[in-house]
Amino acid sequence: MSNTPPGADRFLHPAGHFIDGRLVPPDSGLSLPVEDPSTGELFSTIPAGNAADVDLAVRAARKSFASGSWSRAEPSHRGRVLWALAGKIREQLEALAWLETRDSGKPIIEARADIAGTADIIEYYAGLASKIAGQTMPLPGRTLGMVLREPAGVVGQITPWNFPLYVGAWKFAPALAAGCSVVLKPSELTSLTLLAAAQLALEAGVPGGVFNIVTGTGVDAGAPLSAHPDVDVLAFTGGTVTGQKVLEARAKLIRPAQLELGGKSPNIVFDDADLPRAIAGGAFGIFYNQGENCNAGSRLLVHDKVYDQYVAGLVLAANKIRVLPPLDERSQMGALISAAHRDKVADRVRAGVAAGATLRCGGEVAPNDHFARGHWYLPTVLTEVGKDDVLFQEEIFGPVVTVTRFHDDDEAIALANATQFGLAAGAWTRSVDRALRCANELQSGYVWINQYNPTPVEAPFGGVKSSGFGRDCGPQAVETYLTWKSVLWSLAPFEDYYQS
Ligand code: NDP
Repeated sequence: MSNTPPGADRFLHPAGHFIDGRLVPPDSGLSLPVEDPSTGELFSTIPAGNAADVDLAVRAARKSFASGSWSRAEPSHRGRVLWALAGKIREQLEALAWLETRDSGKPIIEARADIAGTADIIEYYAGLASKIAGQTMPLPGRTLGMVLREPAGVVGQITPWNFPLYVGAWKFAPALAAGCSVVLKPSELTSLTLLAAAQLALEAGVPGGVFNIVTGTGVDAGAPLSAHPDVDVLAFTGGTVTGQKVLEARAKLIRPAQLELGGKSPNIVFDDADLPRAIAGGAFGIFYNQGENCNAGSRLLVHDKVYDQYVAGLVLAANKIRVLPPLDERSQMGALISAAHRDKVADRVRAGVAAGATLRCGGEVAPNDHFARGHWYLPTVLTEVGKDDVLFQEEIFGPVVTVTRFHDDDEAIALANATQFGLAAGAWTRSVDRALRCANELQSGYVWINQYNPTPVEAPFGGVKSSGFGRDCGPQAVETYLTWKSVLWSLAPFEDYYQS
């Protein structure tokens, strides 16, 4: 099944965390199994990190930061090194995509897009490294004012399992461009590609100790990282409940955090929409990456006039998606990340149907040759879901979409905004006025019009409300990893305040 591509073997069985430029066995001497979600096969292990490993990595990061080997390197040098790292990732695209697919269960074609996107992200921040600049200003009393931008120091980063390397790069690339030293803890479910990237970064010229990876569970490795007093900034992507814990830990230290959390994103189809396009976009918006996507368009809101036609088209589109083993080149949907997650998705749907929702397609997978093992769930469409229903309010993080009817633009916007989340939103319309009203009135960090899902690195990504704060991507992401320092330089003749 697994025909390992050239280059993947090297990263398949990591001998340790990546700390101070080398693989370091875990303090505990223990490892965690790595499962292929599509088969249940345990195909590798990763180090089981703990607080001692985190502390070792933070010390290495601090030492490298203080040495100035990266933090005070010429910004253009940092840019060249990051560019070289992106090149190495492109060279290893097949190997990294294969590892990502085995680790996460996503289709190989989508894993390739993730890895190519990762290289794009790193190249963007390679270019930005030399564009970070402060300000000067005249100040009262013949004082010259300068505002310096300095790297924030040692950065802790905790990343999820849905886009392991891609979302990892959203975090580490701007931090490295800014001159910070990084300790990153990937999800215990998907650590292999980030361990590989840190090794490639060393080969590209990132000095040892600047980019460290500690693997392990959230409780044993993530919590000590978020509570470490020598971590200057903590950046997190994951669930809202975990985000709260991370924020509590940072609050105790009075240190900043950037949080990218969950969503329950609305995708509005107006009656003047190009319907085939809106149907295809609605399906892609929820079913890409098995729906394990923080910005998944999980709440379709459809105008009454086109509702029946839309639902029929969506069910057809969902049933056509090729749910196949993820290494099969034809696969368009793979397996969910774990048995526990698949069961959570199934429970949510079951409870929703018991509460009155109608299952139009999908649901549980009947075991057959493909699905005898592994964590499968079919593309699922539910209707008859109202604004106060759990299905409408809570993130499911799987291939499950609800379709709710609306009657006018006011109701559409009100329904769209009627959750605690505010990560992303979509609208399908031919009317410029409606499109602009949506852009203006949707409570969301990201709005797509007549498309859904692309997240080019140029555009800042992040949420409002309970979806978090701070931004990944764009020049804004670098701000998380920089501080402001005001320098006031007197040009005035000497005057003694106490003698006047
Ligand atoms: P988590 O929020 O638990 O995981 C995200 C990261 O945080 C992982 O690296 C995890 O480690 C780590 N972590 C877990 N507990 C702690 C802790 N106490 N302190 C510090 N770090 C911690 O997501 P789950 O994997 O459990 O998924 C739960 C739900 O979160 C999903 O169903 C989905 O709704 C949402 N989610 C949202 C994501 C997004 O992109 N916004 C991504 C992933 C999940 P480890 O995995 O090793 O436990």
